[in-house]
Amino acid sequence: MTRDEQNLAEKKLLLAIHGDEVFKGKIIRQERPFCCGADIDLLEARLTFVEVKIRNRIFTLLEPYCPLCGRKAKATFHLLN
Ligand SMILES: [Zn+2]
Repeated sequence: MTRDEQNLAEKKLLLAIHGDEVFKGKIIRQERPFCCGADIDLLEARLTFVEVKIRNRIFTLLEPYCPLCGRKAKATFHLLN
């Protein structure tokens, strides 16, 4: 396995763990990271993570760097119910 494949596998795992919780969860909903007029492809982008505490639970939001301009897309989210 090459280093890139390894990183991709790791990224897929992290996205599976945290992505579902924040993009499809029932407590908070993170907006899809968006930059340069398009949604950022999370598998292609370099990812960073930021934790927020909501109702005594820690959620891990995703903050990718835009593959086009290199800026970090700040995580925005709202509370559901
Ligand atoms: Zn951009």
